[in-house]
Amino acid sequence: MSNTKTKLLATVIAAHGRHYLVQADDIKLHCVTRGKKTDVAVGDIVEYQLTSKNQGVIEAITPRKTLLYRSDQYKSKMLAANLTQLLIVVATEPSFADDLISRALVASESSGIKATIVLNKIDVEASLPKARERLALYAGLGYPVLEVSVTAAPEATRATMMDLIEGNNTILIGQSGMGKSSLINLLIPDAEIATREISAALDTGKHTTTFTRLYQMDAETAVIDSPGFQEFGLHHLSEGMLERAFPEFLPHLGQCKFYNCHHHTEPGCAILSAVKSGDIAQMRHDLFEQLVHEAAQTIGYK
Ligand code: GDP
Ligand code: ZN
Repeated sequence: MSNTKTKLLATVIAAHGRHYLVQADDIKLHCVTRGKKTDVAVGDIVEYQLTSKNQGVIEAITPRKTLLYRSDQYKSKMLAANLTQLLIVVATEPSFADDLISRALVASESSGIKATIVLNKIDVEASLPKARERLALYAGLGYPVLEVSVTAAPEATRATMMDLIEGNNTILIGQSGMGKSSLINLLIPDAEIATREISAALDTGKHTTTFTRLYQMDAETAVIDSPGFQEFGLHHLSEGMLERAFPEFLPHLGQCKFYNCHHHTEPGCAILSAVKSGDIAQMRHDLFEQLVHEAAQTIGYK
C-alpha cells in the first residue's frame, strides 16, 4: 500500500519563464519543471510532487484537449491549453482592427476552439451603427456577435457574459482600450488582488500585466486573461491549415482547376471567383494571402 503513490494534479494558473503557479484544490503552489523544460502552458493540468509546503515540481502534463498558439518569424508561443472558447473583445470606440479579429478567428479555427465576438461600449451610440456594420461580416460567417456595455449596463453585461462562459475555459483577447480589464473586473471582482498575488509569487517584478493568467470560477468554468497585444502572428500555420481556417473557403476547396491551387492568381481558381462574385470578402482573402506570405517567412523554426 505504502508505495502506491496517488498522482497529484493541479491547474497551471500563471507562467513566468520556467516558474509556474499552479492551483491544487485549495492551495496555490509555486512550481518549476525538471531540467530546462518550458513546455508548460497556462491551463495545463499537470502532475506534480511537493518539495515543500508551498512548492513543487511538475512531473508531467496531462494530454491537452486544445492548445492555442501565436507565433512570429522566429518562434511560436503557447498562449493557453485546454481552452474551449475564445472571446474577442472589441468596442465602438476606439476603433478596432479587423486584422486582429480575423487572426484570432483563424487561430481559433485551427485549434478547434469556438469563437465569439463581444462588442463593448454600445452606450457610445454615435459609433454603434458603424461598429455593427463592420461586425456583420463576421456574423455572416457564423461567429456570434454579442453586444454589451460594461460601464453603462454592468448587471446585464454580467448576466450575458456568465451565460457565455459557464462550463467553458474561455480566453479573452482584445486590443488595449476595448474594455477587457473592465470586463474581467466585472466578472472576477478580486482579479486585481489575484494578479498581485501571482506577481508576487512568481516574482514578475514590474511586468505585472505581461503574463497570461487563469481565474478558476468553479470546477467547470475558467477565464483566462491574456496581455493585450497588437500583433497576432500565425507563422506556424501551413498553407493547408490556413485555407481550412477560413470557413467561407470550405465549400469552394477542391473546386479549383488545379488540385494544388494556391488561390493566388491561378486560372480557374474557385476561391478567386468567389471573391469576384462577392461570396468571399476581399478583405478576408487579402488576409489569407498575407498569412500565407508570413508563414513562408519563418526563420530557424523547429
Ligand atoms: P482594456 O485596455 O481593454 O483593458 O480597457 P479598459 O478596461 O482599461 O477600458 C478602457 C476605457 O474604456 C476605460 O476608460 C473604461 O472605463 C472604458 N470603458 C470600459 N467599458 C466601457 C463601456 O461599456 N462604455 C464606455 N463608454 N466606456 C467603457
Ligand atoms: Zn484556388
